[in-house]
Amino acid sequence: MSDAREPVRFLQRLGVRRRDLLKAVPLAGVGAAVLGLGWAGKNRREGRRTHGVCRFCLIHCGVTATTQGDRLVRVEGDVASKTKGFLCLHGHAMPELVHSERRVRMPLAREGDTLREVGWNEALARIAERLQRVKAEFGPEAFVVQTGWPLVRHPLVGLLHRFCQAFGTPNLATVGSFCETAGRMGKALTLGSKYSPNFHRVRTLVLWGANPTHALPIVTHLVADKAKTGKLVVVDPVRTELAAIASEHLLVRPGTDGALALAMMHVILAERLYDPAFIEAQTVGFDELQALAAQYPPEAAAELTTVPRDQIVRVARLLAREVPTSVWEGLGIEHHENGVQTVRAVAVLEALCRRAGQPEVNELLTPVGPNFYNEPLPALVRPATAEPVPPPVRARPLGHSRYPLFETFNREAHGALLADAVLQDDPYPVRALLVVAANTLVTAPGSERLRQAAARLRLLVTVDPFLTATAEVSDFVLPACTFAEAPTVDASDEEVANGSMVAPQHQAWPDWKIVFELSRALGLGRYFPWNSFQEAMQAPRRPYRVDPEHQPRPNPPQQKAPPPAFGTVSGKLELASNLLRRYGFEAVPKWSPPTEQPDADFPLVLVTGPRTRAFINSQFHQVPSVRGKMREPEVLLHTERARAAGLTDGQWVAIVSPHGRVEMRLRVTADVHPDAAVAPAGWETANVNLLHDPNRRDPISGFPAFRSGVCRIEAVRTA
Ligand code: SF4
Repeated sequence: MSDAREPVRFLQRLGVRRRDLLKAVPLAGVGAAVLGLGWAGKNRREGRRTHGVCRFCLIHCGVTATTQGDRLVRVEGDVASKTKGFLCLHGHAMPELVHSERRVRMPLAREGDTLREVGWNEALARIAERLQRVKAEFGPEAFVVQTGWPLVRHPLVGLLHRFCQAFGTPNLATVGSFCETAGRMGKALTLGSKYSPNFHRVRTLVLWGANPTHALPIVTHLVADKAKTGKLVVVDPVRTELAAIASEHLLVRPGTDGALALAMMHVILAERLYDPAFIEAQTVGFDELQALAAQYPPEAAAELTTVPRDQIVRVARLLAREVPTSVWEGLGIEHHENGVQTVRAVAVLEALCRRAGQPEVNELLTPVGPNFYNEPLPALVRPATAEPVPPPVRARPLGHSRYPLFETFNREAHGALLADAVLQDDPYPVRALLVVAANTLVTAPGSERLRQAAARLRLLVTVDPFLTATAEVSDFVLPACTFAEAPTVDASDEEVANGSMVAPQHQAWPDWKIVFELSRALGLGRYFPWNSFQEAMQAPRRPYRVDPEHQPRPNPPQQKAPPPAFGTVSGKLELASNLLRRYGFEAVPKWSPPTEQPDADFPLVLVTGPRTRAFINSQFHQVPSVRGKMREPEVLLHTERARAAGLTDGQWVAIVSPHGRVEMRLRVTADVHPDAAVAPAGWETANVNLLHDPNRRDPISGFPAFRSGVCRIEAVRTA
């Protein structure tokens, strides 16, 4: 199974049913589906109507689009699609995005300080010529391709892998270097797979560092229902909307989630609330875990986490008794120096509540086990194996030696190491970068070093519909279509819908065409013998053979045997991980405190990156209807802290850390942890990545510690 199939079944795996989605439609503020139908009937005479898919996030909502001429005039949720007419504000912003004045209209090439419009042929020829020079001087691995979120889980990622392989570089880096894959690793190291809760089957649901109201609005009402019909527990340093209605909200100090999970395990083990038969038959490492949890009595954990001792005990009993229990963990627990172990701690806690990972409770989301051992990166979707397959790449990707488990699980380069490779030739020189649908200089950690690295590159090319901050400093900018301007591809079964929602705007090309034509300009056209994406998707394929060097263990035995319950090395749920032990890490989910701790100069814990309702990272800032929801970046500070510092709600402040300084408007609230300052990411004018040390990373995943830095807040000017 590949990652590319995930979005289509995603809602199904959460247990979301048709009637649940129908309830979500009015909640999205879209209006009842029937209104959409009424409008559609009226306009059938007035414009061309097509069906497509919104690809701004992994839900892939069905869309009915109406165009007049070459203008997309309106989009509605498609009531006949799997999402039954739901569309959030981002989906509704599609026409604004497609027809934005800020689109890149033609290929741009740098001449001195300016970018000049050139033709496609000239741009591709000049890029190819410079790429060949980099390859001749530094080797093919000196070329990195970095992709962003919109294309992840899109079959195009497979084409980019193929493109890299044809060129001879192992260095395709995706947004997976900074987002979500640490959670997958933590779960896979414990259970062999990531999984998600089935809302209808769990009795107690825990949101741990997750805020679906902003990240996955289509299911918010289902989570809210747990507060009425079951038990909803929220662990978060912010009192989110769902925390406000939860049965229990644990206002945890950022960076201490692992200690909190261990303290709850302590209670469950001490009071023997677990299922000994399950532990005996299905798990390994119980004794080691017991010894670790013994070090975290609730009294001590209360000091570390600021969660009251009695609440720790009460919630531990609730999770263990009101089963089935399941945890939905978010990025809030990944972006720490101990992120993978924190995810493991939460997964192990869930296991002690007896039902974790069992199919009747948690539908398997991505069975990493078979992919992990026997197949390439899940994103290497089938076109990557279509004939003729490019020769194997011998060089190892960035991160191969520094984060070997990241490579093992994800089969790609680690984007966090890009600046080191450019500026220090570590582990080898990188001199050319192709950025596809990403704003690396704003959204990746270490923005300042990345700017220095960009200046040192021999070639920087950005493929994007917009002139992003990264595009502005590029040597070439290639205008890409939005997904509305290209035929829809259903990643689950590779069906291709007829036509696009709207014609390509200006001189923009679909991303697949850019990959094909750049390959041809490089003399690699034999690996892209297709004239359309449809042809590529339908090309005959052959099974992929795994490079033995990529396998962390020998091939599993060929004889038929019942599949193990868990896709781990032992085939059991690993309370102590064999693989982590083999790679020199703690086998049990030990908690370690953040290396940056508040002091007199920087008294607050800095949390950056929680999703806001308006934006998805740096996307939609240029869309007026979305920007209207949040005109300025806002940092949250607790009322008592603000009062003590003489700061007032609405004034402009500076967030100052040991690494940088950023200005935002202050939002004073009682709904945030008193020790924390919480700021959004993705603002080019207030780039919070400047506030973090990019070298503070999780040693297992290489993920940056975005959610446990330190800072102070000071006034800069009056509102
Ligand atoms: S961004 Fe909104 S409309 Fe688009 S797929 Fe995601 S939830 Fe659906």
